[in-house]
Amino acid sequence: MSVIYQRVALIGLGLIAGSMAHAMRRGGLAGEIVGTARSAETRKIAAEIGLCDRIVDTAAEAVMGADLVVLCVPPGAMGAVAAEIAPHLAQGACVSDVGSVKRDVISQVGPHIPAGVHFVPAHPLAGTEHSGPRAGFAELFDNRYVLLTPEADTDPAATAKLRAFWEGCGARVEEMDADHHDLVLAVTSHTPHLIAYTMVGVADDLRRVTDSEVIKYSAAGFRDFTRIAASDPTMWRDVFLTNKEATLEILGRFTEELFALQRAIRRGDGEHLHAYFTRTRAIRRGIIEAGQDTDAPDFGRVKVKREPTAG
Ligand code: NAP
Repeated sequence: MSVIYQRVALIGLGLIAGSMAHAMRRGGLAGEIVGTARSAETRKIAAEIGLCDRIVDTAAEAVMGADLVVLCVPPGAMGAVAAEIAPHLAQGACVSDVGSVKRDVISQVGPHIPAGVHFVPAHPLAGTEHSGPRAGFAELFDNRYVLLTPEADTDPAATAKLRAFWEGCGARVEEMDADHHDLVLAVTSHTPHLIAYTMVGVADDLRRVTDSEVIKYSAAGFRDFTRIAASDPTMWRDVFLTNKEATLEILGRFTEELFALQRAIRRGDGEHLHAYFTRTRAIRRGIIEAGQDTDAPDFGRVKVKREPTAG
């Protein structure tokens, strides 16, 4: 693999930026990796573990001379960071982001992008429930999708270069309209996270979460909910604040289906339940056939140390 960008600036040094730094090094994709984070503590840890070639104090300093700038902060913080870096961006540079929501991030960041700088929004569909500069690892994006959501006037060459970069990080890359992205992610990630948060919250209300029996006998059901519900509170608050419309749309449909299943249970309508569960089982088979999960018993838990979630 050869160098794709001479200098990559990572703004925010958490799970995603850290994994990008490791993956870039593995693939030899960047001449130099410069990083910065909001807090001195995160910058200190990143410097100690050698996460980037250079750690600097401000985002403005980080982007100077960079030909790729990636915003790796929570969705709600993208606009403020874009405003801060805008006057310091190099001509011809590409600005991208990794936010889990695309339309809102585009409207926050887009207005700050100066003429002669490209903006190619992106979202890697890969993550874990861990955060911070120590959480990243090179394999996070391997065989996972990265969705690019360029606008109609985005320079195709800038998009193609970013595609090559993410492929170099091990990912499969596809392009998608930003609004469509937000609806798809509301179904596949955002609403499921909300349901997990709710389920764990309900169990907590019943004061049974701390009861060791709940965890001990939870197998993969409730235990998986607790793992998802351990995801970063700031990021997930921002996801729901910035993908409001699509999440409310999917939640509305979810509630209707839940009521239908509730009625079937009350009426003893086994036919309805069986037909529903048969349909959902086929969806699971499709995910495995597409290579996006394992059909190993217990999700291959014994062998797989890091289990993915996708913001
Ligand atoms: P993370 O590990 O929590 O790291 C977030 C970074 O952003 C930290 O360096 C933090 O700085 C910085 N930050 C937080 N609030 C900020 C603010 N208001 N202004 C400036 N910087 C701020 O997060 P992550 O999981 O890497 O997520 C980063 C982005 O990736 C988010 O946009 C998220 O939507 C997206 N994403 C996440 C996942 C996932 O599963 N985690 C998956 C795909 C995409 P300090 O450390 O100094 O506080």
